[in-house]
Amino acid sequence: MRLADYMADCLMHPDHGYYATRDPLGAAGDFITAPEISQMFGELIGLSIAQSWVDQGAPKTCVLAELGPGRGTLMADALRATRAVPGFHDALSIHFVETSPVLRAAQAEAVPQAQWHDHVDALPDAPLFLIANEFFDALPIRQFIRDGDAWRARMVAAPEGQLQWGLSAPAPLALLAHRLPDTKDGDVVEICPGLPAAVTVIASRIAQHGGAALIIDYGDWQSQGDTLQALSGHERTDPLAATGQADLTALVDFAEIARHAAPAAFSRLTTQGVVLDRLGITQRAQTLAKGLTGDALEHHIKAHRRLTHPAEMGDLFKVMSIYPETASAPPGLAP
Ligand code: SAH
Repeated sequence: MRLADYMADCLMHPDHGYYATRDPLGAAGDFITAPEISQMFGELIGLSIAQSWVDQGAPKTCVLAELGPGRGTLMADALRATRAVPGFHDALSIHFVETSPVLRAAQAEAVPQAQWHDHVDALPDAPLFLIANEFFDALPIRQFIRDGDAWRARMVAAPEGQLQWGLSAPAPLALLAHRLPDTKDGDVVEICPGLPAAVTVIASRIAQHGGAALIIDYGDWQSQGDTLQALSGHERTDPLAATGQADLTALVDFAEIARHAAPAAFSRLTTQGVVLDRLGITQRAQTLAKGLTGDALEHHIKAHRRLTHPAEMGDLFKVMSIYPETASAPPGLAP
Protein backbone atom coordinates (compact mmCIF):
# COMPACT_ATOMS: atom_id res chain seq x y z
CA MET A 1 0.00 0.00 0.00
CA ARG A 2 1.26 3.50 -0.77
CA LEU A 3 2.15 5.47 2.33
CA ALA A 4 -0.30 8.23 1.28
CA ASP A 5 -3.17 5.72 1.11
CA TYR A 6 -2.23 4.31 4.52
CA MET A 7 -2.09 7.84 5.97
CA ALA A 8 -5.44 8.78 4.40
CA ASP A 9 -7.10 5.73 5.98
CA CYS A 10 -5.43 6.28 9.34
CA LEU A 11 -6.65 9.88 9.44
CA MET A 12 -9.99 9.97 7.65
CA HIS A 13 -11.42 6.41 7.34
CA PRO A 14 -15.11 6.96 8.24
CA ASP A 15 -15.15 4.26 10.98
CA HIS A 16 -11.53 4.05 12.13
CA GLY A 17 -9.89 7.31 11.04
CA TYR A 18 -8.19 9.41 13.70
CA TYR A 19 -9.84 12.75 12.78
CA ALA A 20 -13.08 11.17 11.53
CA THR A 21 -13.85 9.67 14.95
CA ARG A 22 -12.56 12.12 17.58
CA ASP A 23 -11.61 15.64 18.64
CA PRO A 24 -7.86 15.29 19.29
CA LEU A 25 -7.15 18.91 20.23
CA GLY A 26 -6.40 20.60 23.51
CA ALA A 27 -4.40 19.95 26.65
CA ALA A 28 -6.36 16.74 27.37
CA GLY A 29 -6.15 15.54 23.75
CA ASP A 30 -3.20 14.32 21.70
CA PHE A 31 -1.81 17.69 20.66
CA ILE A 32 -2.45 21.39 21.08
CA THR A 33 -2.45 24.01 18.33
CA ALA A 34 -1.79 27.76 18.35
CA PRO A 35 -5.46 28.89 18.44
CA GLU A 36 -6.06 26.55 21.41
CA ILE A 37 -3.04 28.01 23.24
CA SER A 38 -4.29 31.61 23.21
CA GLN A 39 -7.07 33.77 21.77
CA MET A 40 -4.34 36.18 20.60
CA PHE A 41 -3.45 33.89 17.68
CA GLY A 42 -6.87 33.95 15.99
CA GLU A 43 -7.34 37.64 16.79
CA LEU A 44 -4.12 38.72 15.06
CA ILE A 45 -4.53 36.40 12.08
CA GLY A 46 -8.11 37.68 11.68
CA LEU A 47 -7.00 41.30 11.82
CA SER A 48 -4.28 40.72 9.23
CA ILE A 49 -6.86 39.20 6.86
CA ALA A 50 -9.32 42.05 7.52
CA GLN A 51 -6.62 44.62 6.76
CA SER A 52 -5.97 42.85 3.43
CA TRP A 53 -9.68 43.14 2.69
CA VAL A 54 -9.53 46.90 3.41
CA ASP A 55 -6.31 47.29 1.37
CA GLN A 56 -8.01 45.62 -1.61
CA GLY A 57 -10.84 48.17 -1.62
CA ALA A 58 -13.22 46.37 0.79
CA PRO A 59 -15.04 44.16 -1.78
CA LYS A 60 -18.78 44.09 -0.98
CA THR A 61 -19.04 40.31 -0.99
CA CYS A 62 -16.26 37.88 -0.22
CA VAL A 63 -15.58 34.42 1.14
CA LEU A 64 -13.77 34.00 4.45
CA ALA A 65 -12.63 30.39 4.42
CA GLU A 66 -10.68 28.17 6.75
CA LEU A 67 -9.18 24.79 5.89
CA GLY A 68 -9.28 22.19 8.67
CA PRO A 69 -10.65 24.52 11.36
CA GLY A 70 -10.35 22.02 14.26
CA ARG A 71 -12.70 23.26 16.98
CA GLY A 72 -13.47 26.54 15.18
CA THR A 73 -11.56 28.49 17.83
CA LEU A 74 -9.37 30.46 15.42
CA MET A 75 -12.35 31.64 13.37
CA ALA A 76 -14.39 32.55 16.46
CA ASP A 77 -11.47 34.65 17.78
CA ALA A 78 -10.88 36.21 14.34
CA LEU A 79 -14.56 37.20 14.04
CA ARG A 80 -14.66 38.72 17.51
CA ALA A 81 -11.50 40.74 16.85
CA THR A 82 -12.73 42.06 13.47
CA ARG A 83 -16.23 43.14 14.62
CA ALA A 84 -15.10 46.77 14.65
CA VAL A 85 -13.80 46.74 11.05
CA PRO A 86 -16.55 48.73 9.24
CA GLY A 87 -18.41 46.65 6.66
CA PHE A 88 -16.19 43.53 6.97
CA HIS A 89 -18.74 41.22 8.58
CA ASP A 90 -21.53 42.37 6.26
CA ALA A 91 -19.36 41.50 3.25
CA LEU A 92 -18.38 37.98 4.24
CA SER A 93 -19.79 34.52 4.16
CA ILE A 94 -17.90 31.95 6.20
CA HIS A 95 -16.84 28.64 4.69
CA PHE A 96 -15.09 25.71 6.34
CA VAL A 97 -13.34 22.90 4.49
CA GLU A 98 -13.54 19.96 6.87
CA THR A 99 -14.08 16.24 6.40
CA SER A 100 -14.37 15.08 10.03
CA PRO A 101 -18.01 14.88 11.24
CA VAL A 102 -16.87 15.09 14.88
CA LEU A 103 -14.91 18.30 14.27
CA ARG A 104 -17.67 19.75 12.07
CA ALA A 105 -19.98 19.44 15.10
CA ALA A 106 -17.47 21.28 17.31
CA GLN A 107 -17.06 23.98 14.63
CA ALA A 108 -20.84 24.45 14.42
CA GLU A 109 -20.91 25.29 18.15
CA ALA A 110 -18.16 27.89 17.77
CA VAL A 111 -19.25 29.39 14.42
CA PRO A 112 -22.90 28.45 13.76
CA GLN A 113 -23.17 30.61 10.62
CA ALA A 114 -20.44 28.67 8.74
CA GLN A 115 -21.06 26.56 5.64
CA TRP A 116 -19.13 23.33 5.21
CA HIS A 117 -17.37 21.74 2.23
CA ASP A 118 -15.30 18.60 1.68
CA HIS A 119 -12.80 20.20 -0.73
CA VAL A 120 -11.39 23.65 -1.52
CA ASP A 121 -12.72 23.46 -5.07
CA ALA A 122 -16.28 23.65 -3.66
CA LEU A 123 -15.64 27.16 -2.25
CA PRO A 124 -17.80 29.82 -3.99
CA ASP A 125 -16.24 31.84 -6.81
CA ALA A 126 -15.60 35.23 -5.14
CA PRO A 127 -12.77 37.20 -3.52
CA LEU A 128 -11.20 34.60 -1.25
CA PHE A 129 -9.71 35.35 2.16
CA LEU A 130 -8.40 32.06 3.49
CA ILE A 131 -6.71 30.74 6.61
CA ALA A 132 -5.07 27.33 6.97
CA ASN A 133 -3.39 26.55 10.29
CA GLU A 134 -1.95 23.05 10.62
CA PHE A 135 -4.02 21.84 7.67
CA PHE A 136 -1.33 20.98 5.10
CA ASP A 137 0.69 18.94 7.64
CA ALA A 138 -2.27 16.55 7.94
CA LEU A 139 -2.45 15.84 4.20
CA PRO A 140 -1.13 12.39 3.26
CA ILE A 141 2.42 12.22 1.92
CA ARG A 142 4.51 9.80 -0.10
CA GLN A 143 8.17 9.12 0.64
CA PHE A 144 10.82 8.18 -1.91
CA ILE A 145 14.37 6.96 -1.42
CA ARG A 146 16.87 7.91 -4.10
CA ASP A 147 18.49 4.98 -5.91
CA GLY A 148 20.89 6.20 -8.60
CA ASP A 149 18.80 8.46 -10.82
CA ALA A 150 15.66 6.51 -9.89
CA TRP A 151 13.49 6.40 -6.78
CA ARG A 152 11.99 3.66 -4.59
CA ALA A 153 8.68 4.42 -2.90
CA ARG A 154 8.27 3.61 0.77
CA MET A 155 5.28 1.26 1.08
CA VAL A 156 3.27 -0.20 3.96
CA ALA A 157 2.94 -3.98 3.83
CA ALA A 158 1.34 -6.65 6.03
CA PRO A 159 3.08 -9.93 5.08
CA GLU A 160 1.83 -11.97 8.08
CA GLY A 161 -0.96 -9.71 9.26
CA GLN A 162 1.68 -7.47 10.84
CA LEU A 163 2.27 -3.98 9.43
CA GLN A 164 5.79 -3.31 8.25
CA TRP A 165 7.69 -1.01 5.90
CA GLY A 166 8.53 -2.07 2.36
CA LEU A 167 10.09 -0.53 -0.75
CA SER A 168 8.89 -0.53 -4.35
CA ALA A 169 11.25 -1.37 -7.24
CA PRO A 170 13.33 1.63 -8.35
CA ALA A 171 11.84 3.71 -11.17
CA PRO A 172 12.67 7.12 -12.65
CA LEU A 173 10.09 9.73 -11.65
CA ALA A 174 9.37 12.88 -13.65
CA LEU A 175 7.63 14.19 -10.52
CA LEU A 176 10.97 14.27 -8.69
CA ALA A 177 13.23 15.42 -11.54
CA HIS A 178 13.67 18.78 -9.79
CA ARG A 179 15.10 17.01 -6.74
CA LEU A 180 17.96 15.23 -8.55
CA PRO A 181 20.36 18.22 -8.27
CA ASP A 182 19.99 18.59 -4.47
CA THR A 183 19.88 14.94 -3.34
CA LYS A 184 22.22 11.94 -3.40
CA ASP A 185 21.85 8.17 -3.26
CA GLY A 186 19.92 7.03 -0.19
CA ASP A 187 18.30 10.42 0.55
CA VAL A 188 14.59 10.48 1.42
CA VAL A 189 12.27 13.06 -0.13
CA GLU A 190 8.59 13.53 0.53
CA ILE A 191 5.78 14.73 -1.68
CA CYS A 192 2.24 15.62 -0.74
CA PRO A 193 0.01 14.48 -3.63
CA GLY A 194 -2.99 16.57 -2.50
CA LEU A 195 -1.09 19.84 -2.15
CA PRO A 196 -0.68 21.05 -5.77
CA ALA A 197 -4.40 20.88 -6.61
CA ALA A 198 -5.46 22.59 -3.38
CA VAL A 199 -2.91 25.41 -3.77
CA THR A 200 -3.74 25.86 -7.48
CA VAL A 201 -7.44 26.32 -6.69
CA ILE A 202 -6.69 28.86 -3.94
CA ALA A 203 -4.15 30.79 -6.02
CA SER A 204 -6.30 30.98 -9.13
CA ARG A 205 -9.32 32.24 -7.15
CA ILE A 206 -7.15 34.88 -5.50
CA ALA A 207 -5.55 35.94 -8.80
CA GLN A 208 -8.93 36.16 -10.52
CA HIS A 209 -11.16 37.72 -7.83
CA GLY A 210 -8.75 39.11 -5.21
CA GLY A 211 -8.26 37.99 -1.63
CA ALA A 212 -5.38 36.56 0.36
CA ALA A 213 -4.41 33.26 1.96
CA LEU A 214 -2.44 32.84 5.18
CA ILE A 215 -0.90 29.40 5.38
CA ILE A 216 0.63 28.56 8.75
CA ASP A 217 2.29 25.26 9.48
CA TYR A 218 5.34 23.54 10.74
CA GLY A 219 7.80 22.94 7.96
CA ASP A 220 10.44 24.65 5.91
CA TRP A 221 11.38 25.71 2.42
CA GLN A 222 12.01 22.23 0.97
CA SER A 223 11.43 18.76 2.35
CA GLN A 224 14.53 16.75 3.13
CA GLY A 225 14.53 13.44 4.97
CA ASP A 226 11.84 11.43 6.72
CA THR A 227 9.57 13.84 8.61
CA LEU A 228 6.60 11.52 9.16
CA GLN A 229 5.54 11.73 12.78
CA ALA A 230 2.89 9.95 14.84
CA LEU A 231 1.65 11.65 17.99
CA SER A 232 -0.63 10.29 20.67
CA GLY A 233 -1.22 11.79 24.12
CA HIS A 234 1.41 14.49 23.36
CA GLU A 235 4.00 11.67 22.87
CA ARG A 236 5.64 10.34 19.72
CA THR A 237 4.67 6.80 18.71
CA ASP A 238 5.43 4.40 15.86
CA PRO A 239 3.38 5.38 12.75
CA LEU A 240 2.67 1.69 12.07
CA ALA A 241 1.71 0.79 15.64
CA ALA A 242 -1.32 2.82 16.64
CA THR A 243 -3.25 2.66 13.34
CA GLY A 244 -6.05 5.24 13.44
CA GLN A 245 -5.25 6.05 17.09
CA ALA A 246 -2.47 8.57 16.52
CA ASP A 247 -2.16 11.84 14.62
CA LEU A 248 0.06 11.37 11.56
CA THR A 249 1.71 14.47 10.14
CA ALA A 250 4.71 15.51 8.06
CA LEU A 251 6.59 18.79 7.76
CA VAL A 252 5.14 21.05 5.09
CA ASP A 253 7.30 21.77 2.04
CA PHE A 254 6.57 25.48 1.51
CA ALA A 255 8.63 25.51 -1.72
CA GLU A 256 5.91 23.27 -3.18
CA ILE A 257 3.26 25.80 -2.13
CA ALA A 258 5.29 28.57 -3.79
CA ARG A 259 5.74 26.44 -6.95
CA HIS A 260 1.97 26.24 -7.35
CA ALA A 261 1.10 29.82 -6.35
CA ALA A 262 1.10 31.22 -9.92
CA PRO A 263 -0.79 33.18 -11.25
CA ALA A 264 -0.91 34.78 -7.78
CA ALA A 265 2.11 36.09 -5.84
CA PHE A 266 3.53 34.48 -2.70
CA SER A 267 5.19 36.15 0.25
CA ARG A 268 8.55 35.41 1.76
CA LEU A 269 8.39 32.43 4.12
CA THR A 270 8.52 33.94 7.62
CA THR A 271 8.59 32.38 11.07
CA GLN A 272 5.43 32.46 13.17
CA GLY A 273 7.28 34.29 15.95
CA VAL A 274 8.29 37.14 13.63
CA VAL A 275 4.84 37.41 12.02
CA LEU A 276 3.03 37.54 15.39
CA ASP A 277 5.54 40.07 16.65
CA ARG A 278 4.95 42.30 13.59
CA LEU A 279 1.19 41.99 14.12
CA GLY A 280 1.56 43.36 17.65
CA ILE A 281 1.25 40.27 19.86
CA THR A 282 3.29 41.86 22.64
CA GLN A 283 1.02 44.90 22.91
CA ARG A 284 -2.05 42.64 22.79
CA ALA A 285 -0.54 40.38 25.47
CA GLN A 286 0.10 43.40 27.71
CA THR A 287 -3.48 44.62 27.31
CA LEU A 288 -4.91 41.21 28.16
CA ALA A 289 -2.49 40.83 31.09
CA LYS A 290 -4.00 43.90 32.79
CA GLY A 291 -7.18 41.95 33.51
CA LEU A 292 -5.41 38.84 34.84
CA THR A 293 -3.85 37.72 38.14
CA GLY A 294 -2.35 34.54 39.68
CA ASP A 295 -2.55 31.31 37.66
CA ALA A 296 -4.43 32.95 34.79
CA LEU A 297 -1.69 35.55 34.37
CA GLU A 298 1.02 32.88 34.57
CA HIS A 299 -0.80 30.83 31.95
CA HIS A 300 -1.16 33.88 29.69
CA ILE A 301 2.56 34.73 29.89
CA LYS A 302 3.44 31.10 29.06
CA ALA A 303 1.05 31.15 26.09
CA HIS A 304 2.70 34.27 24.64
CA ARG A 305 6.12 32.63 24.99
CA ARG A 306 4.91 29.36 23.52
CA LEU A 307 3.53 31.02 20.39
CA THR A 308 6.52 33.27 19.72
CA HIS A 309 9.75 32.02 21.32
CA PRO A 310 12.27 30.48 18.88
CA ALA A 311 12.73 27.48 21.20
CA GLU A 312 8.97 26.81 21.26
CA MET A 313 6.62 27.30 18.27
CA GLY A 314 8.17 30.60 17.14
CA ASP A 315 10.74 29.20 14.66
CA LEU A 316 9.38 25.75 13.84
CA PHE A 317 6.13 27.18 12.50
CA LYS A 318 6.25 29.28 9.36
CA VAL A 319 3.80 31.55 7.58
CA MET A 320 3.41 32.13 3.85
CA SER A 321 0.79 34.22 2.11
CA ILE A 322 -0.66 33.96 -1.38
CA TYR A 323 -2.08 37.27 -2.66
CA PRO A 324 -2.80 38.99 -6.00
CA GLU A 325 0.18 40.28 -8.02
CA THR A 326 -1.53 43.69 -7.99
CA ALA A 327 -1.98 43.88 -4.18
CA SER A 328 0.39 44.15 -1.25
CA ALA A 329 1.14 41.21 1.06
CA PRO A 330 -1.05 40.98 4.19
CA PRO A 331 0.31 42.76 7.30
CA GLY A 332 3.01 40.66 8.97
CA LEU A 333 4.39 39.38 5.67
CA ALA A 334 6.63 40.81 2.97
CA PRO A 335 7.12 40.03 -0.74
N1 SAH B 1 -6.67 24.35 12.33
C1 SAH B 1 -7.02 23.70 13.58
C2 SAH B 1 -6.95 22.18 13.54
C3 SAH B 1 -5.68 21.55 13.02
S1 SAH B 1 -5.80 19.77 13.00
C4 SAH B 1 -6.19 24.27 14.70
O1 SAH B 1 -5.23 24.96 14.42
O2 SAH B 1 -6.52 24.01 15.86
C5 SAH B 1 -6.14 19.42 11.28
C6 SAH B 1 -7.54 19.78 10.84
O3 SAH B 1 -7.65 19.48 9.45
C7 SAH B 1 -8.67 19.03 11.51
O4 SAH B 1 -9.78 19.87 11.61
C8 SAH B 1 -8.91 17.88 10.52
O5 SAH B 1 -10.14 17.23 10.69
C9 SAH B 1 -8.77 18.62 9.21
N2 SAH B 1 -8.42 17.78 8.06
C10 SAH B 1 -7.40 16.89 7.98
N3 SAH B 1 -7.33 16.35 6.73
C11 SAH B 1 -8.30 16.94 6.02
C12 SAH B 1 -8.75 16.83 4.65
N4 SAH B 1 -8.12 16.00 3.82
N5 SAH B 1 -9.78 17.59 4.25
C13 SAH B 1 -10.38 18.44 5.10
N6 SAH B 1 -10.02 18.59 6.41
C14 SAH B 1 -9.00 17.85 6.85
